[in-house]
Amino acid sequence: MVSELREDIVTGAHVIVAPGRSVRPDTFRAPAPPLPATVPACPFCDGNEHKTPPELARRGEGAPGSPGWRVRVVPNLYPIVGDGVGGAHEVVVLSSAHDRSLADLDDDAIIEVFAVLRDRIAKHLADGHAHAHAFVNHGKPAGASIEHPHAQVIALDFVPPMVDEVLRRFTSAQRDLVQDAIEEARAGDCVLEDGATVTWCPPASLTAYALRCTLPFGRRRFDAIADGEVRSVALAVRGAVRRLAFVLGDVPYNLVINTAPGDIDERPFHWWVDVLPRLAVTAGFEQATGLAVCTVAPEAAVAALRESAGV
Ligand SMILES: [Zn+2]
Repeated sequence: MVSELREDIVTGAHVIVAPGRSVRPDTFRAPAPPLPATVPACPFCDGNEHKTPPELARRGEGAPGSPGWRVRVVPNLYPIVGDGVGGAHEVVVLSSAHDRSLADLDDDAIIEVFAVLRDRIAKHLADGHAHAHAFVNHGKPAGASIEHPHAQVIALDFVPPMVDEVLRRFTSAQRDLVQDAIEEARAGDCVLEDGATVTWCPPASLTAYALRCTLPFGRRRFDAIADGEVRSVALAVRGAVRRLAFVLGDVPYNLVINTAPGDIDERPFHWWVDVLPRLAVTAGFEQATGLAVCTVAPEAAVAALRESAGV
C-alpha cells in the first residue's frame, strides 16, 4: 500500500494518506436505536425553555422563554470564554424535536438554521469581537455532551491561531486558496457536487471521508452571504451529511463553518465549511508530529459517496 504525504493548500495542515485495505472503515455503524421525540429532563426540548439561561434569539412563534420556536439561541451554560478570555459562547438548538439531527431537517428547517448561524456570527462581529465561528458536534465521540441536536457559536476577542495562519497564507500567496482548492479537487476528480455550492473531498483530508463545501468565488465572511446563498449552502451541507450517513451509518462528525475575522477588509480570504467524520481517535503519532493520518484515500471516499446519489 502506497502512503503519501499531502498538504492542505488552504490551511497548510499535513496529512499522511495511508489507505487501508477497505474503502469503508471498520467502524461502519448500524443505525442507532431511534431517540425519543421529547425527553422530560432535556433543556433543549419543547416546553423546557425554563431549563436554559434566558434566550438570546429565536425563529418561530411564541414569547421568549416559551414554546413555539423553531430555532432557539441560548447562552452556553458552561462557556469556554468569559472572565480571562473575552468572547461569547452560545448554543443554537436546531429544532424543538429531540430526535431530529441536522441530516433529518427538512429544507425550510435547515435553511433557517444556517440563516441563524450566519446572523449570530454577524451579530458578534458587529459587537466588536475579533472572530466568530459556528460548529456542530454530532455524537458523543465528536464532543456532543447534550444529545438534543444543537450547534454552537463562539466569538473570540482575538483571531485564533489557525485562522491567523490561513489569513497569512492567503495574504502571502495573494490568491484565493479556497478557489485553488476547488480547482485542485476538480483536477483530481475529488468533487462530489459541482453546483451553485461545490462539495468535495479534500485531497489532503485530515480524516477519512472529510468533506468541504463552499460557494465558488465566495465572499470572505460567511456572515456576508445572501439569503439565496444560505439556501444553496444549507441544502448542500445537509446533502453531504446525508451521504455520509448513507455510506457509513450514523457516524459522529464535526461540522465547522470557517470564516474570516471581522476586520478582514480587502485582504484575501474565502469562507468554507468542513465536515469531519470521527472514525478514528487521534493517537500518539498525531500528538507527537502534528500530522494527521487518513486511512481512506479521498479519491476512493468520493467514489463511495457518489454511490449515494439521490439520498
Ligand atoms: Zn431534547
